[in-house]
Amino acid sequence: ESGKKNISLIVVGHVDAGKSTLMGRLLYDIGELTEKEKTANERGSKKIGKGSFAFAWGLDALGDERDRGVTIDIATTHFTTPHRNYTLLDAPGHRDFIPAMISGAAQADVALMVVDGSPGEFEAGFERGGQTREHAWLVRSLGVKEIIVGINKMDLVSWSEDRYEEIVEALKPFLVSAGFSAAKTTFMPLAAMEGINIIENDSEELKEWYKGPTLFNALDKVEVPTRPYDSPLRIPVSNVFKGQTAIASGVAVSGRLCSGIVQVGDRVRAVPGDEVATVRTIEVDEDSSSYAVSGQNVTLYLSGIDSIHLSIGTILCPTSLPVPLITKFKTQILIFDLQGSPIITGTPVELFHHSINLPATITKLINVIDKGKVIKENPRVLQKGLTATVELTLRSPNSNNQNNAQIPKIPLETSQENKEMGRILIRRNGETIAAGIVTELLG
Ligand code: GDP
Repeated sequence: ESGKKNISLIVVGHVDAGKSTLMGRLLYDIGELTEKEKTANERGSKKIGKGSFAFAWGLDALGDERDRGVTIDIATTHFTTPHRNYTLLDAPGHRDFIPAMISGAAQADVALMVVDGSPGEFEAGFERGGQTREHAWLVRSLGVKEIIVGINKMDLVSWSEDRYEEIVEALKPFLVSAGFSAAKTTFMPLAAMEGINIIENDSEELKEWYKGPTLFNALDKVEVPTRPYDSPLRIPVSNVFKGQTAIASGVAVSGRLCSGIVQVGDRVRAVPGDEVATVRTIEVDEDSSSYAVSGQNVTLYLSGIDSIHLSIGTILCPTSLPVPLITKFKTQILIFDLQGSPIITGTPVELFHHSINLPATITKLINVIDKGKVIKENPRVLQKGLTATVELTLRSPNSNNQNNAQIPKIPLETSQENKEMGRILIRRNGETIAAGIVTELLG
C-alpha cells in the first residue's frame, strides 16, 4: 500500500540480550520468513551454537546483498505492519559492532533496544562497560528520537512484574538523561524465544498485570519524524555496486536521503570530486519510483560516471550546491563516560560521520558549556559528562610527518545548515568518547 509511512529501524542492545532471536521471531510471525527458511535458520543457528531464531535475521539480509555482488555495509530487511513499511537496518555478526551501528543509526528513525531481563544480566549490560548505555547514547546522538525498549527473557523470571518495574525504573531516567523525551520511550516485557508479546500477548501470567502494547502494536504506532525537504539534496552513499536488475544496469549506489529530493533525470555531483552523474532509475525500498524524498532509503542507478569516483562515504549533492570539504572545524561535544584519560589538546581520535571514519586530532579546547552558557574559556582538560566546544583537525592516516602527507578532507556542514550532515561521533581506542554537532567550519 502506498499510503503506509516508511520507517527505518535499528536494533541495539548488549550482546546476547536476544536481538537476533527477537527479530527472527518477529519476521517469522509476521510471515516474512517461510517455514522452510525457518527450518534452515534453525539448523544454521544450531551450527553456530545459537538459539532457534538467532540465525534468521542476519542470514536473510546477507543473502540478499550477496546476490547483487555488493560491498556489504548495512544490510536491510523489509517488513510491514498495518500502517508502516519498515526497513530493518542490520549490522549482524560484525566483530566491531559499533562502527557498523553508527552508520546504521545515522539512517534510523527509531531504535529498538533489547535488554536481558534475567537475574544479573540486565545489570551486567547496564553497568559501565556494558553496551546498553553506549548504544542508547549513540542512537540518540545520531538523531534517533524515539526508542522502544523490549525487556526480554521474562520467561526466566516467571513474568515477575516486580522485576519488570525494577528495570523500567532504572532505564527510564537514564534514557531521559541521554536525551530521549519520556513520551518517546515505550517499554514492554517480552519472551523472544517463546514469541510472547511480540505480535500478541497470549500469556496468562503476563495478561494478569500487563495491559500495554505488544512489540508489533508499538512498531505500528511509531511516529514518522519530520524531514527536511527544503534543504539541498544530500545522500551519503552506504553501498556502491554494479547494478544488474530487471529494470536497470550500470553503476548503482544506495543510501538514505538526509535531506532534499531526488528525481529521475537529475544531475548529481559526487563529493569529494568534481564528477557529475545522471540519475537514471530510482528504487525506494526495492520498488521503482520516479522520485525520492528525505528520509527514504534509495538505490540509484547512475550514468555518466565511473564507479571509481564513488565510494562508501561519498555524498551525492545538487551540482550547484555541493557539500563543503573540510579539514578543520569547531564542534560542540557531549563527553561520554570516559574509560581512559581525560581529553586534552593533542588527543588523537577517530572521527565518525555517516559511513566514514577518519583520524583526527583535538587541536583546541575552546570552552565548557552548562545549560547553554559558557562557564569556562580555554579549559586545560575535559572530563566525562561535560559539554564543551573543541576544534578538531583531520590528520593523515599513514604519516607522522604532517608537512609531507596529504591531509584528508571530509564533506561536512554545520548542524545549523543541515542537521544530519552536521552530526559527528568521536572515538578513541575503540571507545566512543563523545558525540557532537558541528558549529563552525574553519577550512
Ligand atoms: P543477540 O546477541 O542479542 O542477538 O542474542 P541472541 O538472539 O543470539 O540470543 C542470545 C541467547 O539468548 C540465545 O541462546 C537465545 O536462545 C537466548 N534467548 C533469546 N531470547 C530468549 C528468551 O526470550 N528467553 C530465553 N530463555 N532465552 C532467550
